[in-house]
Amino acid sequence: MLNQASVVICGAGITGVSAAYFLAKAGIQDIILVDERAPLSFTSDRSAECYRNWWADPAMLALMNHSIDLLEELADESGNVFRMNRRGYLYVTEDESSVPNLKARAERISNLGAGQLRTHTPEASTYQPAPPEGFRDQPDGADLLLGTSLIQKHFPYLTEKAVAAVHARRAGWLSAQQLGMYLLESAGTLSGTGRPGLRFESARVTEVGVDNNQVTGVRLSTGKRIDSPIFINAAGPYIKEVGRMLGVEIPVYTELHLKASIRDTQGVVGRDAPLLIWNDPQSLPWEDDERDFLAEDPETTWLIEPFPANVHTRPEGSGDSQTILLLWDYQDKVSEPVWPPLLDEVYPEIALRGLAAMLPGMKGYFDKMPRPHLDGGYYTKTPENRPLVGPLPVGGAFVIGAVSGYGIMSACAVGELLACHVTGKSLPEYAPALAPSRYENPEYLKQLETMGNSEEL
Ligand SMILES: Cc1cc2nc3c(=O)[nH]c(=O)nc-3n(C[C@H](O)[C@H](O)[C@H](O)COP(=O)(O)OP(=O)(O)OC[C@H]3O[C@@H](n4cnc5c(N)ncnc54)[C@H](O)[C@@H]3O)c2cc1C
Repeated sequence: MLNQASVVICGAGITGVSAAYFLAKAGIQDIILVDERAPLSFTSDRSAECYRNWWADPAMLALMNHSIDLLEELADESGNVFRMNRRGYLYVTEDESSVPNLKARAERISNLGAGQLRTHTPEASTYQPAPPEGFRDQPDGADLLLGTSLIQKHFPYLTEKAVAAVHARRAGWLSAQQLGMYLLESAGTLSGTGRPGLRFESARVTEVGVDNNQVTGVRLSTGKRIDSPIFINAAGPYIKEVGRMLGVEIPVYTELHLKASIRDTQGVVGRDAPLLIWNDPQSLPWEDDERDFLAEDPETTWLIEPFPANVHTRPEGSGDSQTILLLWDYQDKVSEPVWPPLLDEVYPEIALRGLAAMLPGMKGYFDKMPRPHLDGGYYTKTPENRPLVGPLPVGGAFVIGAVSGYGIMSACAVGELLACHVTGKSLPEYAPALAPSRYENPEYLKQLETMGNSEEL
């Protein structure tokens, strides 16, 4: 077995796999992908698998538009093995006073390059619903639906209190596992030399060799050493730890995010629904006696306090599937990654109660909730929530990661960008906004103070 590689990638999550694919596509041979776990089995196995070009941050919007271009090309060439759809994201509100803000935000995102914004009323509507499958020949931008009757006509399962909804159209979901497997298998056959372009090594990277500020190779938990002039840190929630092996401090932190699924036996969510997002903050619905009971104990009073916006759900699976996903980031949970993650057993019930504001049929589950499946993983985030893709201050070392809650949708564009950095090809306009070196730019640091955190949904 050769103990040499042209590139070693540490981490076989979706970002490491995508980096391998785009490096192989750029003609690089003898890539070794190292992971102590099976490929795509860590954070990349926990996501809700959704994508959108609907971003208020121009760099993120450009990145996602390009990533979706690449996803569409891959879907076309593979016969859509990863079942990409284009059902969209539907942001719904019952708060009349929030409609001007919802509209202004949609106009801003539309003008940044997400596509046209079309407004529809019950009296004048050209709204075209999204087909449940497929992704071609669909509108981009978004549709603003105004008025309860119009919303009810197209989404009869939503609350009759809903007064406005924004349907972002270059959005939907796919199978992240199938996408990852397609990229992994293709990377192995792209070299065209008869030799596999990519090998997988089942081990942990324990050391990165550096000589004269230049990468020389890695040492693995198996004791093996691989010589390589290029090392790519794609370690997901562990990029900070792996960065330290190079003596580089990577500015990220991690947050635990959960996801639940249940069988929607009462058919509360339409099986053809888009991703449904409740745009309003709320208080959870409790009976008076339940509320009094919760108020008595300091450990449970938080359950009667205000909860944030953005509880969301979508149908999962095709055919006879009754599964729906339930997601709600009602608590920020900054924590170091531990595996398996600590799961909050009340999460499914809280998410279900929160969803009842948007989907009144959920109340039918209050007395007897279907048995939930609960899992979770870690968002790895930079201070402004943009990814990190590019060279590190050690020759031959690169990072690709900090892809937070958008690592599946951005995977293709960040993988391609990383390959451009490694091979010296020309870089897209958004490259500087994602490069680790941005934090050395005083102007960028100044912008950071007012930029806030690029939103997650
Ligand atoms: C609940 C939830 C919902 C989400 N929903 C969405 C969504 O709808 N859309 C979306 O786009 N994204 C979503 N995400 C985010 C997405 O899942 C992540 O951004 C993405 O999976 C991160 O991929 P990664 O390759 O960077 O990390 P990972 O998948 O964590 O892969 C990193 C790999 O590195 C390996 N590794 C670490 N250290 C070492 C070492 N020293 N040696 C060898 N291997 C090592 C690990 O074993 C792991 O396999 C969601 C995430 C969560 C948790």
